[in-house]
Amino acid sequence: MPDRPPSDGPELPEVQMHLHRQDEPATGVVVRNEVCTQKKAAGFVRHIEFDVSGSRLAGNFRTGQAFGVLPPGVDDKGRPHSQRLYSIASPTRGEQGKGNIISTTVKRVIDEHWDTKKLFLGVASNYLCDLQVGETAKLLGPAGKRFVLPKNHADHDYLFFATGTGIAPFRGMLGDLYYQSSPRSATLVMGSPYATELMYHDHFLAMQQDHPSFNYLTALSRERQSDCEEGLYVQHRLSTHREQMTELLSKPTTLIYICGLVGMEMGIFKRMARILPPEILSQYLRVDPEAGEIDNWSRKMLHRKLKPTRRVFLEVY
Ligand SMILES: Cc1cc2nc3c(=O)[nH]c(=O)nc-3n(C[C@H](O)[C@H](O)[C@H](O)COP(=O)(O)OP(=O)(O)OC[C@H]3O[C@@H](n4cnc5c(N)ncnc54)[C@H](O)[C@@H]3O)c2cc1C
Repeated sequence: MPDRPPSDGPELPEVQMHLHRQDEPATGVVVRNEVCTQKKAAGFVRHIEFDVSGSRLAGNFRTGQAFGVLPPGVDDKGRPHSQRLYSIASPTRGEQGKGNIISTTVKRVIDEHWDTKKLFLGVASNYLCDLQVGETAKLLGPAGKRFVLPKNHADHDYLFFATGTGIAPFRGMLGDLYYQSSPRSATLVMGSPYATELMYHDHFLAMQQDHPSFNYLTALSRERQSDCEEGLYVQHRLSTHREQMTELLSKPTTLIYICGLVGMEMGIFKRMARILPPEILSQYLRVDPEAGEIDNWSRKMLHRKLKPTRRVFLEVY
């Protein structure tokens, strides 16, 4: 590794894309479908595994990519439902090491309709969460080529930020990183409103026990944590662990991955801009002087006045 890699980022692996399209979907057989939050969670999030043996998806996906799901039925205009994307939560070798079992983490969309105020149920998320073991679904993909681990993934330090189902790709990536080797280090910051909503919590706690270079931090926004007076969003971990985070972000080998709710990236960039010296910040974010005061930064400025470098990987939805 050079002393300080160019901030245009590490080399990424070639990935397979769109091996199954809408006109020729793969068949996935559900082999597991279970809640992956803590008991008494207010929301409903499920870990769902599909056996894709015999399809072109088998052995040809990479953690960090997503796959498409074609829900049955038609929309309110009578057209077949369009595909929805779901991040792959399994490592690149699949759930059982043979590349044929692919998983994801699905949150049921359940709400009141914005206009009618009647019950609003998301089509694909509820379809997926209702699937029973043995039932099948039409799957597409894989999709995405940029939100993946670099080719030489063991040579890096990682800072992962997740909110909600944004945890899915990091479950898979950490599964790749700690399989038969270890990265230099990996820190995962998982954000959720309450402790009960933390996904795969026991899995990450166990990983932390097994791997000294893995650091797992949670940020609860509507509950007090033992180490903090107020509710925390993921970006606040940059401040509560300022020394450790500054040291991590100063390393030329560090990469940042952000996945989850649209908007979370701005909170993280603003906090980085507040705590990091400019020469370190510029390794991750190029700030045009016209961006003005940090308080006034907005998503509209992203990729124009605020340009993440290729050491930052973003997947927000
Ligand atoms: C790259 C990528 C990866 C993703 N990964 C995941 C993942 O791992 N897990 C996951 O759970 N999701 C993931 N998503 C989101 C997922 O694709 C779906 O958007 C989500 O599951 C909702 O789909 P649905 O069919 O259930 O809802 P839909 O039936 O599509 O309803 C949602 C849409 O309806 C509208 N809507 C929402 N709420 C209301 C309301 N109260 N009243 C009226 N209209 C409303 C909104 O326009 C919204 O877009 C990902 C998205 C992308 C782009």
